[in-house]
Order: sequence, then structure tokens, then C-alpha cells
Amino acid sequence: MTGSYFARRISIRLAELENNAHLRKLTSVQGINLCSNDYLGLASDPRLKAATLEAMQTCDRMGGTGSRLLSGHAPAWNALEEEFAAFAGAEASLFFNSGFAANTGLFQALLGSDDLVFSDALNHASIIDGIRLSRARKIIYPHRDLNALEDLLRLHSNPQGGRVIVTESIFSMDGDHAPLVEIFQLAEQYGAQVIVDEAHATCTCGPGGRGLVAQHGLEAQCLAIVHTCGKALGSMGAFVCGSRTLVQLLLNCARSFIFSTALPPYVAGQVRAALRLAGLMDAERARLASLSARLRERLQAQEYDCGASRSQIVPLIVGSNEAALALASALEEAGFAVKAIRSPSVPPGTERLRLSVTALLSMREIDQFADAVASLSALGMAHG
Ligand code: PMP
Repeated sequence: MTGSYFARRISIRLAELENNAHLRKLTSVQGINLCSNDYLGLASDPRLKAATLEAMQTCDRMGGTGSRLLSGHAPAWNALEEEFAAFAGAEASLFFNSGFAANTGLFQALLGSDDLVFSDALNHASIIDGIRLSRARKIIYPHRDLNALEDLLRLHSNPQGGRVIVTESIFSMDGDHAPLVEIFQLAEQYGAQVIVDEAHATCTCGPGGRGLVAQHGLEAQCLAIVHTCGKALGSMGAFVCGSRTLVQLLLNCARSFIFSTALPPYVAGQVRAALRLAGLMDAERARLASLSARLRERLQAQEYDCGASRSQIVPLIVGSNEAALALASALEEAGFAVKAIRSPSVPPGTERLRLSVTALLSMREIDQFADAVASLSALGMAHG
């Protein structure tokens, strides 16, 4: 009975998804790649591959073998965490197996039901889930809206607990920047603290790739900064950076850290090598910025809505799931790997292709892509 109940429920849910053009499928990427987060091209860099192989060779084990708190710890993690803290301008850092685990662990461990979190409406799912796990009260402010944030801070004092503002620095679906300087000013004025998720800024911007927080010199004022290693660092995992006591709290209380098998120690070697290589990649960062600017210019010249993108993430907003899927598949046929991002991953009406530029692309490929979009527009395909 139970089996058939769930079998029915699964088919109903899948049919609903199919009918709304929401059904997701796994496909491998082919063609000129405009959907990768490997922003600096490090994932396929032979220097990173060589360093990883060397780390594997010098490691006594290929498995994590247990949580870091049990058998999974290795000195390589301490060394890396110290290096990463220095990179982030923080006292200490703790490595998590993914950015998702870092955010869920951070919020769950740090906040409780007495606390208030002011969260940007477009923050990542891992931030949303972390806040849910923490049981803190969440107050969503409209995307990047400082007036609304100030009104909400004024309205919701919280004498019994803490108040935290959380934002991504470069937003993952829109590629726009959070107004960090102003957010920190409001935080100071209203006695709140700030957590910044730098996932898409890690190694793509700021001095030596140290992110937007470092670009504005705000490191010392952050309650916590999350940097991820699966994007520009071409690797995996993520760091929560902050005070020594914060890191101590996380390793004692963050469930996604405590109850998960550590990644094998050679991963520490890989991330360390990636961090060193990325530090030297100012030329690739400059190239990324100019390729992205070119893509935006070419699409905006065709009257496409690219939102307020200022980074390597460029949305091409078409406004419906069907239009986004049709455009993605026509562009795939034309030889470009692009992905439709549908609602509810983005707000309804803003369905899009999320274009992500990497330093591996050439200006010519960007132009070819913009030309292909233009030809599809001429056929009435592209504008939503
Ligand atoms: N934060 C943001 C802003 C992200 O975009 C992502 C991944 N898309 C994550 C956290 C999660 O990182 P990971 O992929 O390493 O789990």
C-alpha cells in the first residue's frame, strides 16, 4: 500500500513538473561552453592536475575514512585553513565539503530562534536552508534594496538576540554586486552584523582574487565570509572564514561538518595548489572582465535584458520557462553549451539563460555567440 501511494505521488509530481516545463534532466555539456563556473579555467589546468597527482602520490590514503573529528583529519587541512584565513583576511577558517554544507553548517551552528536574519531576496538556496535549520526569524529584503533594508532594520529591533544581514557578494543568477559598503554602514548604524557569501567572487575579483569584501577593505568587519572552491578554484569544498572562536564553534556545532566524512587529504593539496595558482592569475581575471563586458555589450545592443550584471555571470532574461528552454536548445544546436534557468530557481517572469564566461573563451567565441543569438532573434526565437 505505502509503496503504491508513493509511486502515485511521484508520478503526479513528475507530471506536474513536465507540464510546467520544470522537469530537469542531466545532460553533458558540448560545444563552446557558456555555462561553467570554472571561471579561470583552473579545473582543466595541467598545473593543477600535476599538483593534485603529486598530492595523491604523497598521501597515504585515498579516502576520507571518517569525519574530521574522528579519523578524517590530517595536518594538510590545518595548513590549508591557515592559508585560506590569510587569503580572506580573517583570523581563522574551516573547510567544509561543499559550499552548500558551509552555509547550512554556519547558519545552523551560529544562530538560534532568538535571532533575526535579514536576507537578500535572491540569496542562494544553501543560505535559505541554513537559516531554516537555525530556526532564526528570517526577514527577506527586496534584492539589493538599501532603503527597504534600512526600514526593516529600523522596524525590527531584537533586544533578546542578535541581528545578522546576509548577502551574496556577486549574485549567482544575476551577476550583480551587493552594495557591500552601504550594507556594512547600515549594519554599523543599526547594531547588526554581516555575513557575506563570496562564492562567485572567490578568485574572480578583488586584490589578488581575494573577493569583493577585500576589494572594499571590509574583511575585519565581517562576522563570517564564505569562499567556495568548486568554481574559480576548479576544485571542491568551501571555507567559512572568521574569528578563531567562530571556527571553534563550527567544529563543535556545525552538523554538516561533524556528521560528514572528510574529503581525502589530497584534496587539501589540490585546493592549496589552486589557491596559489589563482593568486597569480591577474591576467586571466582582467581577461574575464573584458570578455564579460563584451558579452553584455553585444546582448544589450540587441535590446536584451542582462539585468544589472557587472561580472562574469550574465543573465539573458527571456521571461518564461518555455522561451528559455527553446532558446537554450536552439543555441545548443548552433554549438553552444548554455543552460536555461527556470522558475522557481529564479522569480517567475525572469526565466533566463545564465551565461557564465570563463577565461578559456576567446573574444571571437563571444562574438560568435552574440551573432548566433542575433540570428535566432531574427527568426523570432529569442526575445521573450
Ligand atoms: N553559495 C552560492 C552563492 C552558490 O552559488 C553556490 C553554488 N552554486 C553555493 C553557495 C554552494 O556551493 P557548492 O556548489 O560548493 O556546494
